[in-house]
Amino acid sequence: AKTAGRNQVRFFNPQMQAEVSARAAIEADLRAGLKAEQFFLHYQPQVDAQGKLVGAEALVRWRHPEMGLVAPGAFIAVAESTGLILPLGRYIMRCACRQLVAWAEQPQWARLPLAVNISARQFHHPGFVEEVCAVLDETGANPLRLKLELTESLLIENVETMISNMNRLKARGVRFSLDDFGTGYSSLSYLKRLPLDQLKIDQSFVRDLLKDPNDAAIVKTIIALGSSLDLAVIAEGVETKAQCDALIAIGCYQFQGYHFGRPGTVDVLESWSEGYHDH
Ligand code: C2E
Ligand code: CA
Ligand code: CA
Ligand code: CA
Repeated sequence: AKTAGRNQVRFFNPQMQAEVSARAAIEADLRAGLKAEQFFLHYQPQVDAQGKLVGAEALVRWRHPEMGLVAPGAFIAVAESTGLILPLGRYIMRCACRQLVAWAEQPQWARLPLAVNISARQFHHPGFVEEVCAVLDETGANPLRLKLELTESLLIENVETMISNMNRLKARGVRFSLDDFGTGYSSLSYLKRLPLDQLKIDQSFVRDLLKDPNDAAIVKTIIALGSSLDLAVIAEGVETKAQCDALIAIGCYQFQGYHFGRPGTVDVLESWSEGYHDH
């Protein structure tokens, strides 16, 4: 390593140094981006076996001044480790609730459920429940249309607190989906106690569904689990008609994936379907 000056920190491993400064650069850009409101939502359709819209998932995007459109894979981890996920998450929740209010005024969209991703750091932050309630109050969004997507990594921390926070939101009408299901740690005993509405089959199982009998067996098991716990099941990452047909054959009737529609602006979502109608 080079000799560092008095007030300079130098790392022995140049790759490590590069990573640290890349993260620091992302952190600084995230702060500036939050101030300048460079974040916005894309929406991806969720459909039933007839191809009818049953919901949408909000996915954050970053219009970076130099890098252009940036996907969350490049910044969510940094936002989580720096705590910036808290203001970013509040901003996302406000955008999602405002969209629900805009839809509430149009009969064909008024009942469309919108799923919002919540990271573990966000959910376990002490004021989370109050913050969500405050955004619902401030925007006037109908809590019944809001679905929060949680991941199994949430379950590593205090399960009792998690269940009680979920129940407080549930009492207002908010719904819950367990995202990336099958990739995490949830034991069946937890699963039974969580006030969930939906399981979301992780896209890794859908990807090789037609090639790998193990994946097909896992998907079947998740569907059986969902039906015995009275939870809706949706498969994500559905890219082909063949995957969709295979899912229908094993009893999964809700889908999300490039085969039906990529995440896009609200205009793209609205032009994609004639609306949402209860089944
Ligand atoms: P996720 O919640 O599992 O979201 C699904 C990801 O798969 C999205 O990537 C979506 O664009 C992508 N996807 C959808 N259909 C297909 C398909 O058919 N094939 C393939 N290969 N991919 C598909 P995206 O938008 O880049 O988001 C990545 C992850 O970032 C999300 O995974 C979620 O964990 C996180 N994320 C996204 N938006 C938010 C947010 O608003 N808040 C938080 N906390 N995390 C978010
Ligand atoms: Ca998700
Ligand atoms: Ca997922
Ligand atoms: Ca994922």
